[in-house]
Amino acid sequence: MKQFLLKFGRVIDPASNRDGVFDVLLRDGRVSAVEPQLPAPEGARSVDARGLWIAPGLIDVHVHLRDPGFPEKETISTGLRAAAAGGFTTVAAMANTSPVNDRPEITRYMIDRSRAIHAATLVPVSAVSKALAGAETVDFEAMAEAGAQLFSDDGIPVDDSRLLKRALERANRLGFAISLHEEDRSLSCNGAVNAGDASRRLGVIGYSDEAESERIRRDLTIALEANAAVHIAHVSTAESLDLIRAMRIKGARVTCEVTPHHFALDDSAALTWGPNAKMNPPLRSRRDVDAIGAAIEDGTIDMIASDHAPHDPQSKHMDHLAGLFGPGMAAPHLSADDAAEFARAANGIVGLETSLGLALALVHRGLISASRLISMMSAAPARLLKLNRGRLAVGDTADITVIDPDVEWTVEPDRFLSKSRNTPFRGMRLKGRALLTIVAGEIVYDGRKSAA
Ligand SMILES: [Zn+2]
Repeated sequence: MKQFLLKFGRVIDPASNRDGVFDVLLRDGRVSAVEPQLPAPEGARSVDARGLWIAPGLIDVHVHLRDPGFPEKETISTGLRAAAAGGFTTVAAMANTSPVNDRPEITRYMIDRSRAIHAATLVPVSAVSKALAGAETVDFEAMAEAGAQLFSDDGIPVDDSRLLKRALERANRLGFAISLHEEDRSLSCNGAVNAGDASRRLGVIGYSDEAESERIRRDLTIALEANAAVHIAHVSTAESLDLIRAMRIKGARVTCEVTPHHFALDDSAALTWGPNAKMNPPLRSRRDVDAIGAAIEDGTIDMIASDHAPHDPQSKHMDHLAGLFGPGMAAPHLSADDAAEFARAANGIVGLETSLGLALALVHRGLISASRLISMMSAAPARLLKLNRGRLAVGDTADITVIDPDVEWTVEPDRFLSKSRNTPFRGMRLKGRALLTIVAGEIVYDGRKSAA
């Protein structure tokens, strides 16, 4: 019998309404007891968790693991190890792989591959439309049967309203939501950064905030009519948040996520970091960042998701652009050639290994409680993915993240377990990180060995 005793930790389990110092006993992969004091059973390994948080395992509903198809960026193996190092016990892997996850064989490949790896658990996200082409829906029943727990064409918006309506009805009949990448491409114009000060200073095409909010307006109207649950991925603008609030009052069943980069950075970061601060949706204005902070505080935003999007330097056009950007350098006004290169640079940044540290700043700043943070990073994601996780009650699967909330560390991309290094957080000092990541009672990441 395998036993594991975590002593004197602060157990933060919003789903059980628990926040206090407890001992937690794990036995045979499950939570066996949570009590103010437990004697160590014979043969049990014991960990002194004084000063540490013991939380239900963190869950990220939005990651790109690039497998199958792009081993130069990430693989299921490197991605799940990076997830474990970031404190995640479960991640939902988006469908824009090559081939696209639009048929059961791909879903089964992802699950089989992940089971061979001693790290975080993978939950496959099925595409909504075949080849993400927006013309024909996938076989929702077959994809759910193969193991998909969420549906999304993420990376690309679903443009066809009728297809979206049909897809929402089918996914909802199976009990699953659709996660929507909200972008009206006739308004975003393939913009490289947010339309405003940053796009003007760089001399590149701007991506307007209406490109997101106008599409959210359409999609929430469709979802309300269909009485279907929808999830808004990486919400980034003040108007989008106002729309979500208004449509909830009308009865729309909508959840939403925000990424750490959208609450931690504004569009001025693109002036320093160039392609490593380029993503879709882009970093927004200070006003939007403030609105996101308020929406985290008032509960409009349900969860935090990394949108982990690894890219190799070639895809980011770093050979051409790297020399133009950097800390301490004046923001360049790009030549037409450089602006074109910048526009072609792939969108996205890695996030699995910085997400928790950036999110903990919300607690350190006093914006939200520790319990609310764990709810946003575990209980709420578990509900969206229909997982029996995100809670630490007796009998639950022992997926646990032990967090040191106070340790200070510096983001060093060269030490990431992810294969990619594309981050605008290089050199940033963060406070707090995962110390132990436990999946079904087994340690899959042990940060005590690599203390800062
Ligand atoms: Zn997206």
